[in-house]
Amino acid sequence: MTKFVVEGLKATIEGKEILKGIDLEIKGGEIHAIMGPNGTGKSTLASALMGHPKYEVTDGSVSMNGEDVLEMSVDERARAGLFLAMQYPSEIAGVTNSDFLRSAINARREEGNEISLIKFIRQMEGKMKELEMNPEFAHRYLNEGFSGGEKKRNEILQMMMIEPKLVILDEVDSGLDIDALRIVANGVNSMRDEDRGFLIITHYQRLLNYIKPDVVHVMMQGRIVKSGGPELAERLERDGYDWVKEELGITD
Ligand code: ADP
Ligand code: MG
Ligand code: MG
Repeated sequence: MTKFVVEGLKATIEGKEILKGIDLEIKGGEIHAIMGPNGTGKSTLASALMGHPKYEVTDGSVSMNGEDVLEMSVDERARAGLFLAMQYPSEIAGVTNSDFLRSAINARREEGNEISLIKFIRQMEGKMKELEMNPEFAHRYLNEGFSGGEKKRNEILQMMMIEPKLVILDEVDSGLDIDALRIVANGVNSMRDEDRGFLIITHYQRLLNYIKPDVVHVMMQGRIVKSGGPELAERLERDGYDWVKEELGITD
């Protein structure tokens, strides 16, 4: 049973403290959403959890099924089942989408147990169809010249193919029109599983109309300042963040 625990996580970038003590516990089967104003450290949290070298973790712990995630390299984290769909996915020239996906899948498998090419292609084609992606995207260089929405769909394709245990989606809804949003949300919902946890970072409540979270957290100034159920997201959409600040006596 997947259990992902973050305790007192602090992280700095270029010497500036961005995360000021984050606590989270996500179990298999749960969807947690993090909402918060721009610049509060949501993407920093996602990157720090994945081990991006730009972010220095200065305190706290992260564990996945009791194993120390902070001790793991980026590759080891992926192998342990962590996955991040980035807010700004990078382009990789010279590597096709299909090559990238196949090596990502095989990186999580034991040597000698790699996915067969036929099976891989069949799976990829099926998932691309579900996401209503043009088949030619399999052979395009990773994210190169993809529109914002195409990049987001492609991140979801990666998630569906890699079958991670803990999925972090960073503003996967930004830049999506309503049809694309529904397709992406269906992709996520199809991956809901007893043994898979989700951390969905979003600026807007809109996505949460399609993906029902179990827990909603509000992040401000590098801390989770409030947690609740889906009704919290609805209130934030309606009233903004000021009432949370007032309630907590935060001034900025
Ligand atoms: P959010 O995702 O909530 O909008 P971010 O995590 O992207 O917030 O950013 C949090 C803070 O960290 C911001 O003040 C931002 O300017 C700063 N920050 C993020 N990345 C960098 C970076 N590469 N260099 C310097 N500051 C950064
Ligand atoms: Mg932002
Ligand atoms: Mg961000």
